Order: sequence, then structure tokens, then C-alpha cells
Amino acid sequence: MLCLYIIMVSFITSKMSLADLFIVPLVAVILVSITVSTAQGSALEFQELYNQTTDFGISILTTENFNETLFVILPDNDNTLCTDNVVWLVQFYNSWCGHCQHFAPSYKSVANSTIPWREFVKVGVVDCSVRKNSPLCNQYDVQMYPTIMFFPPKTKVGALGKKFTGPHTVPGLYNGILDYLDQEGFPPEMVLVTSSTIDELWNSLPEDKENLALIVEPIDSSLGKDVLLSTLGDLHVLTARRITVLNRALVEALGDVAITGPYPQLWLLDRKAKTSNKIAVSSGGSEDLIAAIFAIDDELAVQKGIVKPVRHPVHYMEADHQVETPVKKADSMEIKPEFDHVQSLDITSAIIYMFSTEVATHKTIDGEQLVALRRFVKALTDLVPLPSPANVAFQKLSGHLAEVTFTEPKRMLKALSAAGYDVEKLPVKWVGCAGSQPGRRGYPCGLWQLLHTLTVNTYRNNTNTEGTLIPTDKETEWSSNALDEEAGILTTIFGYIRHFFSCDDCRLNFLREADGLKAQTKSMSNEEAVLWLWKVHNGVNRRLVGDITEDPAHPKIQFPSQTQCPQCRLADNSFDEHEVKNYFLRFYEVKDVPTTWNVRDPKHRQLVAAQEGSVNGEGSSKKVTMAFGASDTVGHA
Ligand SMILES: Cc1cc2nc3c(=O)[nH]c(=O)nc-3n(C[C@H](O)[C@H](O)[C@H](O)COP(=O)(O)OP(=O)(O)OC[C@H]3O[C@@H](n4cnc5c(N)ncnc54)[C@H](O)[C@@H]3O)c2cc1C
Repeated sequence: MLCLYIIMVSFITSKMSLADLFIVPLVAVILVSITVSTAQGSALEFQELYNQTTDFGISILTTENFNETLFVILPDNDNTLCTDNVVWLVQFYNSWCGHCQHFAPSYKSVANSTIPWREFVKVGVVDCSVRKNSPLCNQYDVQMYPTIMFFPPKTKVGALGKKFTGPHTVPGLYNGILDYLDQEGFPPEMVLVTSSTIDELWNSLPEDKENLALIVEPIDSSLGKDVLLSTLGDLHVLTARRITVLNRALVEALGDVAITGPYPQLWLLDRKAKTSNKIAVSSGGSEDLIAAIFAIDDELAVQKGIVKPVRHPVHYMEADHQVETPVKKADSMEIKPEFDHVQSLDITSAIIYMFSTEVATHKTIDGEQLVALRRFVKALTDLVPLPSPANVAFQKLSGHLAEVTFTEPKRMLKALSAAGYDVEKLPVKWVGCAGSQPGRRGYPCGLWQLLHTLTVNTYRNNTNTEGTLIPTDKETEWSSNALDEEAGILTTIFGYIRHFFSCDDCRLNFLREADGLKAQTKSMSNEEAVLWLWKVHNGVNRRLVGDITEDPAHPKIQFPSQTQCPQCRLADNSFDEHEVKNYFLRFYEVKDVPTTWNVRDPKHRQLVAAQEGSVNGEGSSKKVTMAFGASDTVGHA
């Protein structure tokens, strides 16, 4: 590959004109990218997080189908929409959130292994990164991803569920469901029998039930719950209950075998015959107990001449193990060259997404949140050259936030819309931040770039430090202390991330860095702030190398790469921070930010078509060439 590169460069340079001088580096970058791709060999392949067809046991819920899937009109319920006699477990996730991507295999595993419980527990997911689903995510007050909620039986439409706060692992979620059912006492048949005699036990059961399967199990065992949830809905003659060895009186009433163990044991009781017999089960596993109970029910049905409907086989997966994230290899993924400049359209899209999807999920905003938002909106109006009507709308919003002590995002969005900037309706399109596959890059990439733009422009507007590229004596009201509690740019950024960034894991990791910084120093210049954010971002990049969230066409690098900024590297390949800062002043110079993606603008169409072509898996080198050509036009026009 290197030979081909040298031959081609020699061939081109021997004949090239001045215009070709611009093409050669481009060809070189593409060739280098192909070389890197081949050298790396294989990359991770992304799959959509959830799929209705292949992810057994999971309902894909959307704004359109949520109500009709979860709610019914119960006959005794005054026409109110309620969940049926079932617990719904719903995960509100976000396909760009790294933790959500990591958690998906565990969630699928639990959903799959609980299919036999479907008469009592149903599992669903809502992708809140799809803007169409925003009203639904707002309605359920989802501010962080993933948010997992239990909706108990007979939940009225719109009522909030109970948040699951346990560990995001297979055992954590599996046990979390069982604990929740325990708390709800649902289904009632699963609640431990407290009767101390067999007569008392029969009296507690419906009169038409003459045969009972009774599980005797150790304290703290979840096996009996699994067996009952898996069988109760499909039993036609038999019913089933469970006790633990703590119910000493009833255990003794069953006889010596019940007292001596081992457990679990399965007993068959007959009301009329007044008998109780221990059933031999080959192992103590739940599958054997389930099979034994169904076999008894089948036999009793035959004896009574009852024709049972066919039981559908279930895909039953072991639930008590942690599932590793499945990693697929894609050998043909080509690494895409980076733009040489932040794309203004990405900054616009980040702002639109931020307000329409992230800030909008908050029902009310006051106190520290309001202060954080006030600062952030002020930073946007002061530091991002937004065009009309966006600048007018955000200035009005900034004024509004400065005056109030409490606000509602709904009102804020209406006010933006009234000022001509309806973020809820504006499209979000990614150019430099476009992922090579669905669910990759997009908003977190745009957000990083917006944050860097804010630190760079704060510095740009406040410095005449010798050696910077764009010395300016422009006065602004910005303090030069980036950590200033009143208006420092890092404080402003920390505020947004702390109160509004919806990727919970990312937020906590970032705030840990912020707390570390605050513990170290009380004051920081705007130049230091540019470099601090750069280093933190590179730290995240380092952590995510090879992670499932990494876009194979955009591998994590220590930014800027040698190709992007050769002068940023010292002889030992470490960074020259002075040059990095200068590079940032060029890379993060945002001019002519568009109001929005404009379908009539040929430059926009060309940029987005190039990226969407590659997302859809069409040939990419040619399209990347187009994107490079256009980046200058949009970035510097
Ligand atoms: C504040 C924050 C914290 C995050 N924390 C996590 C986390 O803990 N775990 C997790 O899985 N994901 C986290 N993410 C998401 C993750 O960092 C990436 O944004 C996501 O994986 C998409 O990556 P990307 O390839 O688009 O590049 P990104 O890392 O998003 O970078 C976007 C663009 O910024 C430029 N860039 C890259 N590095 C730098 C740098 N050091 N300085 C300046 N510019 C740079 C490049 O042009 C790059 O294309 C976080 C995102 C944000 C905004």
C-alpha cells in the first residue's frame, strides 16, 4: 500500500499544476485512510440497539403505539385507559448513549429469559433519541438515559412509573423485577403462603381448586417465583403456590421429608382425597419444576376430559449470568478522513437537538438548573455567531431567563418559536459528526464541538496574548477566569452538563473530572480552559478506544492527529500545547452558522448527501472528497 502511495504521489507531483496542489493532499489523505483501514484489519460493526423481529420478548414502543400497546379500557374502569393485569417494564434509552449501547445485550437477555412470565410481566423500549418520541419521553419525565420504569397493573395512562435504580446487569435487572413484584404483591398467587395448617391453606384458595402444586424452598430463593410466574398463566386444573422453610408449621404438616430437606421440593396436594405427596423432580432447577408442574396439569386435564390449548414453546435463556457485549467484526469498514474545520451545520444541529430534545425533557426549571441554563444561553448568544432569527430568539430567551426565577421548557420552546426559531420543527442533520452507521456519533460529537467552540471563542474574545493567531482587543463582559462562579466558561459548561446532559454515565464521568479540577485550582485562564477541555476530551477518547460505541469509520484518536496538525507534535510525538491552542483557533472558528439545515441550499444538500450516502453504506471515497471540498465553502464562506 505504501508503495502504491509513493508511486501515485510521484506520478502526480511530476505533472501537477497549481490547482492540483490542493488535490494532492486530499488524495494522500484518502490513500492514508485506506492504508490505515487495511492495517487495522477489522473493526466493530454496530447493530441497531433493539429489533422487534429478532429481540424476542421486547416491544419496540413509540409515540404512535405506546398507548395502544400498554393501555386498555377495563370494563370496571369508567372508560379510563389503564394497563391491564400485568406489570410493564419500559426502558427509555438513547441510541447514542454509550452506556445504553453496553446495557442493551443485558436488557435483551432479561427480556428473553422472562418471556415465560409474559402473562404477568411485559418488557418494552422507547428510543428517546428519535425526535418523534420526544413528547412521549417528556410525558414520562425522562431526563437521563437509560431510565427504566415499572408500570404496575392498572396504571392510568400518563401516570409515571416507578424508576428501577438497581444495577444495570442481568442479575441486577432480573432480581429487580422479582423484588418489584414482591413489593407490589403481584401476582397475588406468588405471595408466600402464610397458612400454618393444610386446612387453612385450602381455605385460602378458590373453592374450585382441588389440586395444588406447592413449592417448598429455602429462604431468599427466587426459584419458586420464577416457577410460578412461568406456569400460573398456563395451568388449567392445577394451581400453584410457594412457601419457604420459615413456615415451619406448614412444613411440619407436610411430614418428615419436608422437614429434613433437601430443598427445593415440589408437593402435590389433593383437596378431596386429603393427600399430600412429594413429587420426584430430577434436579432442583426451575426448568425441571416447571416441566413437572405442566406434566401434572396435563394429566389432570386428561382425567377430567379438559382439552387444553397448545402451549407455545418459549425461547428460554439462562438468566443468572452476565452477558458479554456481542462484538461483530466488519473487515471492510473504511476509516474516514476528518474535516479540517468544525462544520457550522453540526453546531446548529447540536443547539437544535439540545433545546428540542434535551432541555425540553425537563418539566420545570428553577434554582441551580435555571442559573446553569441562563449562563449557557448567554454563552450561546455571546459566543456563537448565530444568524437571524436564531440570534434574536436566543437573545429573547436569554432576557427571559435573566428575569424569571422559574420557567418551563414548554414555554421556552414556544417563545423561541414565536421569535421565528421553532427548534421542535427544525431538522437535525450531521455533517462532520455524521456516523457511518445508525446510532453512531451525531449529538455527543456535536455537543463536544459546541463546547470546544465556546472555550475557544471565550479565549479568542479575551486575549491579546503574544503568539496567538487572532489577537483581539475586543472587550466583552466575559471574565478571564474560566472557573469564575459568575460567568467563567468552564463553570458555564459544567452547569449545562451537570443539569441537562442526558447521557448519565458521560455526565458523571465528566463531572468527576470537573470536581478534580476544582479541587486542584480556584482560578484558571481562558487559554488554560481551552487546553483543559481538550485534555479531558482526549482522556475520554483514550478510554473509548476499541469500545462498542466507537464508530469504526472514525476511530478514537489523540486529537489533533499528526496529519491534521503536524506542527502540534514534538519530536517525541507528544503535544506542543502552544501549537494545539493555535490549531484550535483555526479548527474551531465558526463562521456563518446556518439557521438550520436548508434543503434548498445546494451546499447543504451536497454536504449531507455525501454523509448520508456513507451512512447508507454507499461508496464512500468519492463522497468524502465532496465533503472535503464543501467544508471550506460552508466553514469559511
Ligand atoms: C461531555 C461528554 C462526555 C462524554 N463521556 C462519555 C463517556 O464517559 N463514555 C462514553 O461512552 N461516551 C462519552 N461521551 C461520548 C463520546 O465522547 C463521543 O462523543 C461519542 O463516542 C461519539 O464520538 P465521535 O467519534 O463522534 O467523536 P467525539 O469524541 O464526539 O469528538 C467529536 C469531534 O471533536 C473533535 N475532537 C476529538 N477529540 C478532541 C479533543 N480532544 N479536543 C477537541 N476536539 C476534539 C473531532 O473533530 C471529533 O470528530 C461523552 C460526550 C460528551 C459530550
